[in-house]
Amino acid sequence: MVPSPGKFLSVKGIKTVASAFDISVDGHVHTRLCHHASGEMEDYVLSAIQRGLSKIIFLEHYESGISYFQSTWLNEDDFAYYHEEGRRLRQKYRGGIEIGLGIEVGFNPDRIERTRDFIQQYQWDRIALSYHYLKTPHGHVNMVSRRQDSIDRMVAIGIDRVVSAYFAGLLQGIKELPAEVVCHVDAVLRHYPGLSFNEQHHAQLDEVLERIKEKNIALEVNTSGFVHRNEPYPSFSLLQKAKKMGIRLVAGSDAHRPEDVGRYFDRLAVLL
Ligand SMILES: [Zn+2]
Ligand SMILES: [Zn+2]
Repeated sequence: MVPSPGKFLSVKGIKTVASAFDISVDGHVHTRLCHHASGEMEDYVLSAIQRGLSKIIFLEHYESGISYFQSTWLNEDDFAYYHEEGRRLRQKYRGGIEIGLGIEVGFNPDRIERTRDFIQQYQWDRIALSYHYLKTPHGHVNMVSRRQDSIDRMVAIGIDRVVSAYFAGLLQGIKELPAEVVCHVDAVLRHYPGLSFNEQHHAQLDEVLERIKEKNIALEVNTSGFVHRNEPYPSFSLLQKAKKMGIRLVAGSDAHRPEDVGRYFDRLAVLL
């Protein structure tokens, strides 16, 4: 029997919520507020309506204590505006499309408490965990950056070490932060040519999936991967594994331009 969305099932005495993978919802879009995307919030809503989506969830960047040459995240005032504008849009487009306001929480092991406190300041429709910035003796390095100087710095640290640190950080974030979704789980060093994970990395990834499952966290299928490698983040093979484990999947475009809302969602039909 195929469970219907949202129904409570009793599996071996454990109550689990079964919900279908829904590709009419784009659960990960940015806006100009994060300083490296373009377009107003409303432009993303209009794009989602045009694409026939049932729901769009803004998932703007929160980072704390990161020392980097530019700010790729929202400050406190930006977040206040974000919520205000989100409420206005929700009202304006009521009946046309559902609008969610979420947060993409960047993990920083030095700011766990502050991050938790910030999350509590607002009501969120989605709290998602990512790990972007690795601490080094010379400030932070962006582990998903395409910039050559970022890649050079990671090569100097050691590619395998960076990947291990990335998965270790994600694991800690899953344990210590109140995440409902884990974003682009295997996107570390996505712009490093010929990257391959070693045995230890695969073991770490397995543990990430186990913890996700244990905490009933959803795994994001991030379609920005199709732009870089013709597969989402995470890869189809990892997604199959996650599906077998009964992990919930949610789709996200990670759009940084309004026209990218819902991009490549047609290619996710194989996961339905
Ligand atoms: Zn991200
Ligand atoms: Zn994002």
